[in-house]
Amino acid sequence: MTFRDLNLSTQLLNALDDLGYEIPTPIQEQSFSVVMSGKDVVGIAQTGTGKTYAYMLPILRMLRYSVQQNPRVLVLVPTRELVVQVVDEIEKLSTYINVRITGVYGGTNINTQKQTVAQGLDIIVATPGRLYDLAVSRALQLKSIQKLVIDEVDVMMDLGFLHQLMNIFDILPQQRQNIMFSATMTEEVEDIISEIFVNPKKVSIAKSGTPLENIKQGLYSTANFYTKVNLLEHLLANEEEFQKVLLFVANKRMADRLFERFERTFSEQCAVIHSNKTQNYRLRSIEQFESGEQRILIATDVMARGLDIDDISHVINVDTPTYPENYMHRIGRTGRAQKQGVSLILVTEQEEESVENIEALMEMKIERFDFPDRVEISTELTPEEQPKIKEIYNPTKRPKDEETGAAFHEKKEKNRKVNLGGKYKREIKKKYKKPKTRGDKNYNKKRKRK
Ligand code: AMP
Repeated sequence: MTFRDLNLSTQLLNALDDLGYEIPTPIQEQSFSVVMSGKDVVGIAQTGTGKTYAYMLPILRMLRYSVQQNPRVLVLVPTRELVVQVVDEIEKLSTYINVRITGVYGGTNINTQKQTVAQGLDIIVATPGRLYDLAVSRALQLKSIQKLVIDEVDVMMDLGFLHQLMNIFDILPQQRQNIMFSATMTEEVEDIISEIFVNPKKVSIAKSGTPLENIKQGLYSTANFYTKVNLLEHLLANEEEFQKVLLFVANKRMADRLFERFERTFSEQCAVIHSNKTQNYRLRSIEQFESGEQRILIATDVMARGLDIDDISHVINVDTPTYPENYMHRIGRTGRAQKQGVSLILVTEQEEESVENIEALMEMKIERFDFPDRVEISTELTPEEQPKIKEIYNPTKRPKDEETGAAFHEKKEKNRKVNLGGKYKREIKKKYKKPKTRGDKNYNKKRKRK
């Protein structure tokens, strides 16, 4: 398939020609008709897959020329670098179309941006905070937004933008198309999808980019998290084989928990990265892992995205990703540059179903390895693994008909006051003994007579 097979305009085709792009990338091919259909879209794709054009080509194809002041397309991205990059990409595509594009981001003079916005625009690319500020100050009207794109949602969630996004959704027109791109799927990303999307269509590129033949995949069935830790300690003790190991975990909590446990066994050989660690800490951890100074790196999906490290001997999935795409991204970190890599996945009973989904996506089975006899099966459970105890006796819940006695604490003096109405009324009442209202002739008369 070439770009000519898509329903593109001559102007867009000419711009693509200038760029030297003939063939749509898989995500571009898949997204085009879905975005064109006007339905909500969730795309799972990493940077470098051509995802910007995957949403921008159909959007530009649909955008009609207009002289109206207010933007019709809003693209939200997590960082200023990305604003600049996305604006640049859109500009390249729109060489032959009359479209006004502006990028806005925090940390720069808002007044200059207000002036730019005031000149009228069609597409605005923004970081959430600055966009909200501009909208609240009334410099920017969002009432004409027809298409909302949220790019790199996983990074946005990781940077704590949820609240700001929610504020923005509140001031956008209800009738609009939502398009979202994320490299990884996390619980937070799922939450936001269920919050704002209506029956979204999913497009994703399943392939990790690395031929699966280069990766030997294996699976261990394990009882629980701490049994996984025991197994890891057993496996990683073999330094000769496990030379450069990237361990994936589902979240920060798990990363810290694992790192803490490893202190007793691999403290000098292990680093960790997740979004609660400072940028410097993360950079140092990555450097140490890359240089070989440290053999083991624990990472969450989002954090590992930017990693470009060769020669990883093993990827170990400490948890089983619910989204098979995440698994593909993870294992694609090994077996690169024609080298052989190994990927292991540690699975509890609850995670079996996710393994089936992964296998269905890859159209192949992962080899089952025997659980080593020497590894102890732990009975310790993480807070998440502990069974939810049904409340049999809850002292704070009282049966309805039980008599209620005095509260345990006496109320403080100031809280004991009864609301007597406004202060003014009370003062008047004190003065005249009963409330005096204007025009109460009889009352006034009576007083005079006295
Ligand atoms: P992105 O994933 O959007 O960050 O894009 C990664 C890079 O691929 C960008 O520099 C694009 O200009 C480039 N690109 C996008 N689409 C294509 C294509 N169909 N063929 C070749 N390169 C492309």
